[in-house]
Amino acid sequence: MLLLESHKATMTEIQASARYDLHCHSTASDGMLPPAAVVARAHANGVTSLALTDHDGLSGLPEAAAAADSLGLELIPGTEISVEWLDHSVHIVGLQVDPENPALVQGLNGIRDGRANRAARIAAELEKIGFNGILERTMAYVGNPELVSRAHFARALVEMGACREVKQVFDRYLTPGKPGYVAHPWPSLEEALGWIHRAGGVAVIAHPGRYRMSNKELGKLFEAFRDLGGEAIEVASGSHTPEQVAHFGRQARHYAFMGSQGSDFHGPDESYVDLGRSLPLPEGVVPVWNSWNNN
Ligand code: AMP
Ligand code: MN
Ligand code: MN
Ligand code: MN
Repeated sequence: MLLLESHKATMTEIQASARYDLHCHSTASDGMLPPAAVVARAHANGVTSLALTDHDGLSGLPEAAAAADSLGLELIPGTEISVEWLDHSVHIVGLQVDPENPALVQGLNGIRDGRANRAARIAAELEKIGFNGILERTMAYVGNPELVSRAHFARALVEMGACREVKQVFDRYLTPGKPGYVAHPWPSLEEALGWIHRAGGVAVIAHPGRYRMSNKELGKLFEAFRDLGGEAIEVASGSHTPEQVAHFGRQARHYAFMGSQGSDFHGPDESYVDLGRSLPLPEGVVPVWNSWNNN
């Protein structure tokens, strides 16, 4: 009886909490579904507040907002900015940003310009090891020509028989030290936070459990982020284990960050979890949406 009651409580908590999904992707970056389809899928999964956070851009937001309007879902304008911090690439999600803000728009334009050049360099490296025509094959997977991601290269390489799965392609070809990896100068943490804040948004360190950093180094990142006015960390990411969710919940409280939650959905066959299916925030973590709602 006791067990049954506590199980019920947990399920209710998950369902209530998963109404917020504050991290996902569409074809405006490296997601597989167009923005309106992402919104419809989130709605079908019970999400009531969705942030579309495409990499380094905002172009999916108008279509997502129109779809959200017609379904009665709250669409939170967001983006996931690629940043370089001490030789690591780190992702910073901006939530509740003004998509028209010139500082943010120009900053993101600059990142996308750099991506075209990077794609050509990645393709040249892959050509060298025998993947002829890789750029053309990759472009067939790209929804937004300004936003070519390693995820698109990975899909093309699977099609070309390099590996069975996208994940393996990253491990064998697309990560530091591997033949198709090229270093790239992303903007600094300071620049990204400046753009997000000037656009009236809240800055969130995305999926802290995914960086290859020691706890000490991650602590330094949290401190640098806090010193620059960063507000939140993604505690409940779709890519975090339950242990990581608990750990980053404690870290959020320690550093006085708010906690965010999101699936990091990219597509039905290529994601850790579906839209609206991340774990709830641990007890005592202040949800990031408290900063824009009065609930
Ligand atoms: P980029 O921004 O072009 O460097 O590409 C990074 C994107 O590749 C991420 O946003 C993920 O969508 C995807 N990605 C990165 N690492 C992995 C991995 N190990 N397995 C699968 N997808 C990954
Ligand atoms: Mn991605
Ligand atoms: Mn990311
Ligand atoms: Mn993401």
